[in-house]
Amino acid sequence: MKYQVICPGCGAKLWRRHFYSTLTLDYRCRQCGSRFRLTGRGWAAGILVVVLEAAGLPLVQYGWLSRQAGMTVALTVCIFGLWFLPYFTPVRPSPAGARKDEPTAP
Ligand SMILES: [Zn+2]
Repeated sequence: MKYQVICPGCGAKLWRRHFYSTLTLDYRCRQCGSRFRLTGRGWAAGILVVVLEAAGLPLVQYGWLSRQAGMTVALTVCIFGLWFLPYFTPVRPSPAGARKDEPTAP
C-alpha cells in the first residue's frame, strides 16, 4: 500500500496533520510550494468513508443495531478512515498550482 498524498512536483509527503487541517481545495507543498488537489477518485474515497459512517445511523434508528454497536462501528470507521484515507486518495497538480519560483508563460 502506497501513501498517495504526495507532492506531484517534488514527491514530498503531505502529513496527515496537514491533509486534514487544510480548509481549502488546494494543498500547498511545504517543500517546493506547488499546489495540488484530490482527484475524482480521491474525493470518492473520502465520500465513501462519510457514507459508511452515516450508514450506521439508520441501522441504530430501526433497532437492527444497538447504540453501543453503532458507536463502535462509527468510531472504527472514523479511526480507520483517518488513518487509511491518504493511501486511497491520489492527488494531481492544481490548475493554478504553478510554483512561485517558476517563470510564467509569456
Ligand atoms: Zn513539493
